[in-house]
Amino acid sequence: MSNTKHCIELENKYGAKNYKPLDVVLTKGSGIWVEDVDGKKYMDFLAAYSAVNQGHCHPRLVEVMKNQAERLTLTSRAFRNDQLPELARELCEVTGFEKMLPMNSGAEAVETAVKAARKWGYKVKGIEDDKAEIIVCAGNFHGRTVTIISFSDEPQYKDGFGPLTPGFKIIPYGDAEALAAAITKNTAAFIVEPIQGESGVVVPREGFLKDAAKICKENNALFIADEIQAGLGRTGKLFAYEHEGIKPDMVIIGKALSGGMYPVSAIVASKEIMNVFNPGDHGSTYGGNPLACAVAREALKILQDEKLIEKSAELGAYLIDELKKINSPHVELIRGKGLWVGIVLKKTAGGARRFCEALQEKGILAKETHENVIRIAPPLVITKQEIDQAVAILKEVLA
Ligand SMILES: *Cc1c(COP(=O)(O)O)cnc(C)c1O
Repeated sequence: MSNTKHCIELENKYGAKNYKPLDVVLTKGSGIWVEDVDGKKYMDFLAAYSAVNQGHCHPRLVEVMKNQAERLTLTSRAFRNDQLPELARELCEVTGFEKMLPMNSGAEAVETAVKAARKWGYKVKGIEDDKAEIIVCAGNFHGRTVTIISFSDEPQYKDGFGPLTPGFKIIPYGDAEALAAAITKNTAAFIVEPIQGESGVVVPREGFLKDAAKICKENNALFIADEIQAGLGRTGKLFAYEHEGIKPDMVIIGKALSGGMYPVSAIVASKEIMNVFNPGDHGSTYGGNPLACAVAREALKILQDEKLIEKSAELGAYLIDELKKINSPHVELIRGKGLWVGIVLKKTAGGARRFCEALQEKGILAKETHENVIRIAPPLVITKQEIDQAVAILKEVLA
């Protein structure tokens, strides 16, 4: 039996079936490259949903991880550690916000944002008890907790998981007029992905984020950007909202904050907003642990030292140009920003899954999203030659 078959059988037997992965069993990774248990090499064009923007097993991250693992890994927030203060300062300096609150997974950071927004709504804005509303967009993906799926409009995410959390309104993505119509004196916040990743790399119309930020400001509601997938260089800026020259009241960060080493997430905001939290209001045993903080500090430095954000802008524009040149009967549209591209297939193409399987065969791992979109998001350490190599394969597969 091949190693691949063995692993798949074990996982199918003992693991919950909450995913349907491509049948490739990976065992090693370096930069944009991963290797399966049978020794076949692939380019990783998903990058763990942009968590490995810095590339797999980045040597600097491995080094910091090892060193910190031998020193101190967890204190809980009952005591202080010497890594959290440094990460807090560096993250605030890099992002231009005053305060941060560390968590682990992206969903926990989104939950933290929801709690912060509601509390700000009551304590600062003066919303009547239990009346706070949060506005979100159709097609959103913000994670999988019960509260977060409560404001998803994807039926499968909610089916069988009720009763759901109330207090959310959904408007069409990209529709500023709908936001203006939905916002009330009880609106605490608008939470939005500047580009919707899971929805298929959906870029809203130009000016939407700017308009939305203005509407929020006029109505004294917080503008919260979920940059968990779009942020940290993916779109060719540190944060995707920078493309519209705005500054949110709060930003939610995760995924690439640890370069794929370890779950690290955070929210950043002003003092005024963050100070709604008092000791005991919110927390996490692992949140802000020294291992997480040491890794995140290095992951942020790598983005800057290796100019990965600039690379994403430059090579992303090149990649999109090259993809647009492909003459395929199946492609409806190519969209994206930076090294983040959705290849939208025509209805007649028979779904994206079969193209992803064909790409796997030829050495590229990409994941379909929403049936008909192939999402392309390689680690930002990719070279121009590697892009050319990938485009040649994509050309064959899409022909
Ligand atoms: C991945 C993602 C999340 C959830 O992060 P997890 O670490 O999987 O909990 C939230 N928002 C966006 C935009 C994401 O892409």
